[in-house]
Amino acid sequence: MADEIIRIENVTYQYGSGGEDNQLTAIKDISISVKRGEYLVILGHNGSGKSTLAKLMNGLLLPTKGDVYVNGMNTKDQDKIWDIRQTAGMVFQNPDNQIVATIVEEDVAFGPENQGIPPLEIRKRVDEALRIVEMYEYKKHAPHLLSGGQKQRVAIAGILAMKPDCIILDEPTAMLDPIGRIEIINTIKKLNREEKKTIVHITHYMDEAVEADRILVMEEGRIAMEGTPKEIFSQVDRIKELGLDVPQVTELAYELRKEGFDIPNDILTVEELVKVL
Ligand code: ADP
Ligand code: MG
Repeated sequence: MADEIIRIENVTYQYGSGGEDNQLTAIKDISISVKRGEYLVILGHNGSGKSTLAKLMNGLLLPTKGDVYVNGMNTKDQDKIWDIRQTAGMVFQNPDNQIVATIVEEDVAFGPENQGIPPLEIRKRVDEALRIVEMYEYKKHAPHLLSGGQKQRVAIAGILAMKPDCIILDEPTAMLDPIGRIEIINTIKKLNREEKKTIVHITHYMDEAVEADRILVMEEGRIAMEGTPKEIFSQVDRIKELGLDVPQVTELAYELRKEGFDIPNDILTVEELVKVL
């Protein structure tokens, strides 16, 4: 369907191939689709299969069973793999592992250079990408001297310069300080709202999930919950069962409700809580 950018159909993924004993089924018969333009957040505790699912979404891993389609292209189709990676770009946890050059603008140019884009067009894309992530003034700087949040923004610019429709971010804030986290969250929101990029954002910070259009919660290789942030976080007991926390404000509203206060069960922001109190 035209409004889907990624479709995962009955996908199972097993690590290892040395017979039954050596196999670990990380993804168990999952079917989901990511809608064009949506901001999807994937939650789940460690080992629930989030990174495996992310890597299946752009052909870094191929399903053991089932199929993954990116813009209608099957990730098993070897001829399409570069198109697929260009359509769905990946940003990882550690910005240091993603930076390849000694000058910011050269780093951002690396992807499009490998795509064989003409030099003038590359220069245009690099400048545009650096402006979007608000790192243009740093284009001549050495990446290793930047803060974690700045490095991660450079890594995002490197993906943007390849003009992907969809950006998959696997715990992009996990190694950052609180300021770096805010910088990256604001960048992700801007990519979705202003640049119209489809976002798949994997995180274990509940507060970051509040802004999503839709949340998937994973457990043991399956989708345990799916819904809007309000639908998900109003089920505080279920979330806790899955080994996760709820956003701080939701937790407070939940405790107050248990004490007998008449407060709705879908409070996500301080503003909403202040209003009902
Ligand atoms: P998450 O990102 O949610 O922490 P992962 O997708 O990394 O989860 O891992 C899901 C399961 O697959 C875990 O049990 C993990 O130990 C296992 N796993 C992940 N990567 C590998 C690998 N390269 N080889 C074998 N098992 C792996
Ligand atoms: Mg992971």
